[in-house]
Amino acid sequence: MKVPFVELQTQYHDIGRDIDRAIKGVLESGVFVVGDRLKSFEVEFAAYCGLPYGIGVASGTDALELSLRALGIGKGDEVITTPFTFIATTNSVIACGARPVFADIEICSYNIDPGEIEKILKKDRQGRVKAVIPVHMYGRPCDMQAISGLAQKYSVKIIEDCAQSVGAEYGGRRTGTFGMCGCFSFFPSKNLGAYGDGGMVVTADQRICGRIKMMRYHGVRDKYYHVIEGVNSRLDELQAAVLSVKLRYIDDWNEARRRRARLYSKHFCDAGLDGEIALPEERKGCKHVYHIYAVRVKGRDKLMSFLKDKRVATGIHYPVPLHLEKVYRRLGYRRGDFPAAEKAAREVVSLPMYPELAEAQIGYVVNEVKRFFRL
Ligand SMILES: *Cc1c(COP(=O)(O)O)cnc(C)c1O
Repeated sequence: MKVPFVELQTQYHDIGRDIDRAIKGVLESGVFVVGDRLKSFEVEFAAYCGLPYGIGVASGTDALELSLRALGIGKGDEVITTPFTFIATTNSVIACGARPVFADIEICSYNIDPGEIEKILKKDRQGRVKAVIPVHMYGRPCDMQAISGLAQKYSVKIIEDCAQSVGAEYGGRRTGTFGMCGCFSFFPSKNLGAYGDGGMVVTADQRICGRIKMMRYHGVRDKYYHVIEGVNSRLDELQAAVLSVKLRYIDDWNEARRRRARLYSKHFCDAGLDGEIALPEERKGCKHVYHIYAVRVKGRDKLMSFLKDKRVATGIHYPVPLHLEKVYRRLGYRRGDFPAAEKAAREVVSLPMYPELAEAQIGYVVNEVKRFFRL
């Protein structure tokens, strides 16, 4: 048996006829950038989240950067976020001219710790902090009640990084609807993946929507009349058409991920391994969508190479907490600054997870993990 980490071909095989038809429609229309497919997908996706406005952009990273800039965040400003995320989160902050400020995570959820956010906000006498970017890591919602409370108390904006959390829910509400902007990525391996790069901002604010729509198209108001500084960052018609088809299946795919996550966890518990392996937790009132099924173990690297020999692919999301990344040395952080994020980076390992993963494959992975611990 061989278990890949992700596998996208089966999904295409399952819905290929609808996808082919959608792509052909775009090719025959002769419209490839900012046409009707984008407009309808923006409406559909925003409605899926429960909001009136969606703005399709070229990537999840651009969704974050344009959101920050649309909120007027730039040079001299600070933005609080987690050190335990993909570097795109903080690169978007740096791209808009602001400075990322890290708050440690809760080890049980891998998400930013609201208590740590408040410590920073309390010390921020000059009011440099303008926004918080909670990242719903692995598809598990952050503690949005606490974070929303802090945002109100200290008058800072929330921009949610939902790149891993499409369809995830907190208290019955989808992620992406708690802040000024919800930022999504349609990178091919994300839960809702395009056949290339893509992203989306959702918002309830008509003015923010208008600004981002101008900014993604060089700040255009009327053709060749530009009123704000902008960039070229659009979700193209082919990707929009593909994503419109895929959006019809996202809830089924997320449910399939959740069933597979439960199966993994049940097998690990039945094997008596829940002492050696910290399993992902589900919080009451929340819906985790398992973009990634990560567990924590001591001796993670040995387990990974053992599994590799058994043809089970694994990953680390992410091996270097951002405050220790070489490229961020100038931010002035040191080892020991964020113990929970550092522990997570040392101990997490992501197991194969995708909606089409077979039960037998999960059984095989668990069995090999068992054999590793019995050695
Ligand atoms: C994938 C990802 C992004 C960036 O999305 P792109 O579409 O690749 O630019 C941002 N944040 C997180 C947490 C991600 O996982």
